[in-house]
Amino acid sequence: MPDLRSLALGGLVILLIKILQSLLFKRRRSMFSLDSVRPPAPHVADRKLRAKVLKQSFSPEKVPHGLDAIVIGSGIGGLSAAALLAKAGKKVLVLEQNDQAGGCCHTFIEKGYEFDVGIHSVGEFGRTGLSRTLLDQLTDGQLEFVPIDPVYDVLKLRYLSEKSASYDFCSPKERWISTLKKQFPGEEEAVDKFIRYIEESTSFIFVFGVVKFLPLWLSKLVIKLGIIDWFTPYSKWASRSAQSVVEELTDNEDLRTAFTYLWAIAGVIPSDVSFNVMALLHHHYYGGSYYPRGGASEIPFHIIPVIEKSGGKVLVNANVKKIVLDESASRAVGVVVEKDSKSFKIAAPIIISNANVTVTLTKLLPEKVGKRAIQYPVLSRVRPSVPCMEIFLGLNASNEELKLSAQNYTCVMDNNIEELYRKYRRMPIEEALNAEPPVIYLAFPSAKDPTHDQRHPGKATCTIIGPAEYEWFRPWENESFLHRNDRYEEIKKTIGHRLIEQACKLFPQIRDKIDLVVIRSPLSHNHYLGRTTGDIYGLYGDIERFKLETQALLRPETGIEGLFLSGQDVMTSSLLGAAIGGVFCASKILNRNLMNELNGLMKEAEKRENRSSPARRMPIEEALNAEPPVIYLAFPSAKDPTHDQRHPGKATCTIIGPAEYEWFRPWENESFLHRNDRYEEIKKTIGHRLIEQACKLFPQIRDNIDLVVIRSPLSHNHYLGRTTGDIYGLYGDIERFKLETQALLRPETGIEGLFLSGQDVMTSSLLGAAIGGVFCASKILNRNHMSELDGLMKEAEKRENRTWPSPAR
Ligand SMILES: Cc1cc2nc3c(=O)[nH]c(=O)nc-3n(C[C@H](O)[C@H](O)[C@H](O)COP(=O)(O)OP(=O)(O)OC[C@H]3O[C@@H](n4cnc5c(N)ncnc54)[C@H](O)[C@@H]3O)c2cc1C
Repeated sequence: MPDLRSLALGGLVILLIKILQSLLFKRRRSMFSLDSVRPPAPHVADRKLRAKVLKQSFSPEKVPHGLDAIVIGSGIGGLSAAALLAKAGKKVLVLEQNDQAGGCCHTFIEKGYEFDVGIHSVGEFGRTGLSRTLLDQLTDGQLEFVPIDPVYDVLKLRYLSEKSASYDFCSPKERWISTLKKQFPGEEEAVDKFIRYIEESTSFIFVFGVVKFLPLWLSKLVIKLGIIDWFTPYSKWASRSAQSVVEELTDNEDLRTAFTYLWAIAGVIPSDVSFNVMALLHHHYYGGSYYPRGGASEIPFHIIPVIEKSGGKVLVNANVKKIVLDESASRAVGVVVEKDSKSFKIAAPIIISNANVTVTLTKLLPEKVGKRAIQYPVLSRVRPSVPCMEIFLGLNASNEELKLSAQNYTCVMDNNIEELYRKYRRMPIEEALNAEPPVIYLAFPSAKDPTHDQRHPGKATCTIIGPAEYEWFRPWENESFLHRNDRYEEIKKTIGHRLIEQACKLFPQIRDKIDLVVIRSPLSHNHYLGRTTGDIYGLYGDIERFKLETQALLRPETGIEGLFLSGQDVMTSSLLGAAIGGVFCASKILNRNLMNELNGLMKEAEKRENRSSPARRMPIEEALNAEPPVIYLAFPSAKDPTHDQRHPGKATCTIIGPAEYEWFRPWENESFLHRNDRYEEIKKTIGHRLIEQACKLFPQIRDNIDLVVIRSPLSHNHYLGRTTGDIYGLYGDIERFKLETQALLRPETGIEGLFLSGQDVMTSSLLGAAIGGVFCASKILNRNHMSELDGLMKEAEKRENRTWPSPAR
């Protein structure tokens, strides 16, 4: 809990920011709208149709006329900036050097196996949060994220030794904390303190965004005077390494490693990474870990149409060789694209570079101009992030056969991992070829994507990431990737196969199923992601990078008129960080605070969601641990006078409880007989919570339960022909019963010969649906059956009164 002083000071900072915002940005109606979010269309699996969006190859004729902006690079950072400009009506051209769009979000298919290269899981997608709100706007709601296993990360410690230990990290936060405490008995105080530190250090993390928004001179002044440090503990946590904090918390070495295991994902060792970045990573996964439904390429696939709607284009095989400047070299006015040894000059008043900051300032601009950029001093303070080996395995068996889980595994050789990692990377290549890589990160993406088994039946995939040193591969950096010699292949394969061997020791069931091996070296990252030192994350995320002084420089505007930066270097290395880099960039260009607009939208979405159903939208892992807030219960056997005769000695109970369709959507296309263990687990856990509530209300039934049948929303799809588990047809809200709506909900459809009947035509109930049938037949027979029934009713009443005079009479 932050103390009162920090709260008051925090409030003051927010007030100041609001005043500055109103001075800096024009007040306008929000560019975003919840109404642009449409329900996701069915997944497009056809490779030709996908290529039409993702692989539009560059040719000068395809360049639209009258461009408002050019974006160099089609990573999420470039695409988000482009889509936001497009939403403001701008015509934007995105140029990508690779043969397909997406940057780290691209996927590739080989021998029928599909692999994504740079997204394993992302957080903050459970409830209406910033991630979902932003991605919904960027894709008009077409992108879906599905939760992976509630135990989203597993740390395998001393994984090659007999003293191995395994630690689970799970969501929601409360379960994460209790699991950690259970795994480390006696360390409860250290765990509690760690959580407190996470809360404190992340509560003011937004200030690193503020110093980018303010004009540079003002940021510098505020930082120099230490004003932010009076108000917030940002610098306190940003200047301390994660390692130094955890060393203070506990002597238990396994727990220290567990507190900092996310370093392997961030690519920054615990002594280098600031505590607040480590805290931010833990915080990011509090609500669980998610994966893009249909794979990572769904991200560019659904953003590109939004860019095209305003006349823009995303063209690939378009290597930007340089940024063109005006005569005085003070303004960016275009780019030069090189393709098939030809150069093409394209002009636009705004140029955004999503290629990383090092490439932009040292390769795409003349040296003198690059040095003038606001960001240039950062290059001597922060080095590029680390390189790695990436291995993709195609497995010729299904996820189910191989019992693969939708989890990520971080495997470290021992608690002195930093020492081992540094030593490994410093090794000369001959030594490295004979050494065991001391850390591997491993996942089975096929198990995370609910559409995978349908798209690639009988197949599964595994991705392994291991450490590497760029120097081992530097001799071939200037050779085309098809013409590197045998020695390069030998190095790549030897290191790659060591990592595969380790993976097979960890998961022996995959050994005999390996059908395809693709090994990528740091040079592959140069090739596919336009890097220069095999770096996977742009700038290295160390303490220096997250100092306020550095953050103030890592901003979208470059100081060179017309030239802006977007993506992970402007913000943080992650899908969300790079996308927000795009938001910051578009904000600067459009001179509006899009973060504020998104925040407003997020609140509106939250309100709408709460209004439509307060119990909805809890992520599944949270729901599995929550009490359903309402149940409906009845004993039908007691209502039917014939029951005891027909079923002597038996009674029945029916319970209805709330559910969210998203919890079950991953299995919606699987036959009800072939849904997997996870489906059964979810169905049973929620079902048994409801049964437990019923037993508390009617304790006498507890010991007499002889049969349990649990039906999920998917059972309603199956038995009642629904599509989203809905039980009553259309939702019976105010909108539905407005006269305008009711006038439309009628039997005739306007399509000759086609009529509707049932509950949607009338109301959701037995009588309502039957009257729907009466209305329908009336229309078809062109008679007023309701009137006829009314007449009959009156006649029946009369008859009844005649034969059975009421007792009162
Ligand atoms: C192996 C790996 C695993 C990861 N796992 C996760 C994860 O699980 N969760 C998560 O949130 N994040 C993860 N990340 C990080 C995340 O993917 C990135 O931070 C983010 O996608 C970067 O987006 P970006 O737009 O800044 O850059 P990029 O995606 O790198 O895009 C830059 C684009 O610019 C292009 N380009 C460069 N130079 C030129 C040029 N001269 N001309 C034309 N085009 C050019 C490149 O080809 C590239 O397509 C991972 C990254 C990697 C590499």
